[in-house]
Amino acid sequence: MQIIQDISSTKSLCRSLKQEGTLGFVPTMGYLHEGHLSLVKQSVKENPNTIVSIFVNPSQFGQDEDLDTYPRDLERDVALLKECGVEYVFNPNAQTIYPSGFDTWVVPEKLASVLCGKSRPGHFRGVATVVLKLLNITNPDHMYMGIKDYQQLRILKQMASDLHLDCDIVACPIVREADGLAMSSRNSYLNPDERKRALSLYHGLLKARELYEQGERDCGQIIETIKSIIQESGGRIDYIECVDPLTLQSISEAKDDTRMMLAVYFGKTRLIDNMALKA
Ligand code: AMP
Repeated sequence: MQIIQDISSTKSLCRSLKQEGTLGFVPTMGYLHEGHLSLVKQSVKENPNTIVSIFVNPSQFGQDEDLDTYPRDLERDVALLKECGVEYVFNPNAQTIYPSGFDTWVVPEKLASVLCGKSRPGHFRGVATVVLKLLNITNPDHMYMGIKDYQQLRILKQMASDLHLDCDIVACPIVREADGLAMSSRNSYLNPDERKRALSLYHGLLKARELYEQGERDCGQIIETIKSIIQESGGRIDYIECVDPLTLQSISEAKDDTRMMLAVYFGKTRLIDNMALKA
């Protein structure tokens, strides 16, 4: 296993790995769980070489957010990646990615003005910038990303198209705990009571999908159903919306592939989840 911190070694490593065939890349902030590992396993299966980045990106955290407390455990992450057959980890520090004088940003516009972009101003500017930097450093053929962060996935796919990037972005399904809670590094913040209550996100989404299957098409009703289940559990709703899967604009009449998107606080922990409607 090679853990590389600097940019020029990573660039030359990736250049030489690409001589052997396609290169897969999985960007993460570490504290890996089965959700991350599903992306990694898919990349290992589909490419002769895979590089994983572990970088808690300061520019995507707001001033009052959890940058300092974000969970980290590099040793454990490396052991998990080894078990998956990963041989290369890019683990730069913040100074390497944002040296003094850094002044150029990628600013997604419309897609970043809704949902999480509204509650977390500047978040997607940080995400898009760091991902473009990571892509320029690793220059992979395929980048693997989770549908768990659906808005992020849409924004990055749009960025790849708008900026003529050669990398293909592979969308991977949401991995859930046995009871249905979407896996997230931030689940580790939940106390046992919050953990139980957080299950209402999944239950709300499932119930809404069931309604849709029974013929409900009014997004107001669909949202109301999710809202009441989450409110009953004591979750503090940031947003619940039914959106067009491409534009992420809120819609009023649901159809197949309409995506239900939500962000909810349990205590101080903000969780996101989403699900597509299908008849
Ligand atoms: P993060 O470390 O939170 O930045 O996530 C790194 C990548 O893992 C992103 O593409 C996420 O969408 C993906 N990911 C995180 N949680 C899950 C999950 N439960 N299922 C599938 N992918 C996930």
